[in-house]
Amino acid sequence: MTLANGRHYLAIPGPSVVPDRILNAMHRASPNIYEGALVEAMPELISGLKSVARTSFDVAMYFGNGHAGWEAAIANTLQAGDRVLIPTNGGFADRWADAVRAHGVHVDVLELDRSTAFDPDIIETVLRADTAHEIKAVMAVHVDTSTSVKNDFATLRAAMDAAGHPALLMADCIASLGCDPFEMDAWGVDVVITASQKGLMMPPGLAFVFLNQKARAAGRNITHRSQYWDWDRRIDPEIFAYYFGGTAPTHHLYGLREALRMIVDEEGIEAVWTRHETLARAVWAAVEHWGQDGPMALHVPNPAHRGHSVTSLGIGAPMGTALRDWTETNMGVTLGIGFGMAPLGDPKWHGYFRIGHMGHVNGHMVMGTLGVIEAGMEALSIPFAEGGLKAARQVLIR
Ligand SMILES: *Cc1c(COP(=O)(O)O)cnc(C)c1O
Repeated sequence: MTLANGRHYLAIPGPSVVPDRILNAMHRASPNIYEGALVEAMPELISGLKSVARTSFDVAMYFGNGHAGWEAAIANTLQAGDRVLIPTNGGFADRWADAVRAHGVHVDVLELDRSTAFDPDIIETVLRADTAHEIKAVMAVHVDTSTSVKNDFATLRAAMDAAGHPALLMADCIASLGCDPFEMDAWGVDVVITASQKGLMMPPGLAFVFLNQKARAAGRNITHRSQYWDWDRRIDPEIFAYYFGGTAPTHHLYGLREALRMIVDEEGIEAVWTRHETLARAVWAAVEHWGQDGPMALHVPNPAHRGHSVTSLGIGAPMGTALRDWTETNMGVTLGIGFGMAPLGDPKWHGYFRIGHMGHVNGHMVMGTLGVIEAGMEALSIPFAEGGLKAARQVLIR
């Protein structure tokens, strides 16, 4: 007997749950890519995307995952010999730095504490020291999905301004756009990168790069800009095909239209943010309660430094892996692996896991996941303080 049969729940930090409405919108015969509904849908898609990122500037779209979004931002603003600053408090910032380095760009990595948001004063100090203004960009992750730390871009922009430094500010919002509040224009962020399969509730396959005038101007200084990645060509396409540098991702665009209608027109982006925050608080309340009498602990102590789309946890090796295996095999809930917390191959790696709560997630999904985790701890004889679900439900009904 297994209790896993029934609808499976992938509670990992991306890809996230795809609503049936989006799947159904994609389930159709191949559309005409030269004229008609698909071509006419573009203004709605662009304006919906821009309202999720809170920008009045531009968006370029790419076939690809989040890594493609990174690549696009790099290809349009940097070239070999340039220098950038990347503060890191998680595995995704580390990987972004690797992607930048592969372009022959010199990366100053600022290794910061991995369980707190970074202190903008440190970045201000580094920028002040760069009197020749060699640093072309500060590239930072908003919510680092590995540690679930959330960094504050309003204060980061203030620090850059205080230093009087002209570098571009680029944000990886792949795990946070459509989950945590983010104000591209109001916070003065020049480039924002996201992808379809997290807060936007779509299957993987689309990357979006938002950019303002300053970033666009920087792009014009790149001597050899790859035609495929060139964002100007995609922002003002002469023909429909240039939006995507070739054939459009036809079915994904129908899915995207449905997703944006759900987020922007129906629920409203601010209500979406509040839903994510409330669900995240329920998860934190349960975990903090369980941990009063057991090994489970949140990775980020300060709630203000936690992202609302994913929670990174420790439970002691080998119990992280054991618990994930148990919930998947016995209950049909897949939890996220620990990432960036201990090296692969290190036994400690098995002490971490993550709960994804991004996108199409509601109260019963979070309560169900927490109930299943509690059942798993009991089944595996992991100690915990009784009452975690009560703590969670009190957050939800408040
Ligand atoms: C998921 C994620 C990425 C990588 O996205 P892919 O689609 O896997 O390429 C990068 N940065 C952050 C913060 C992410 O959450």
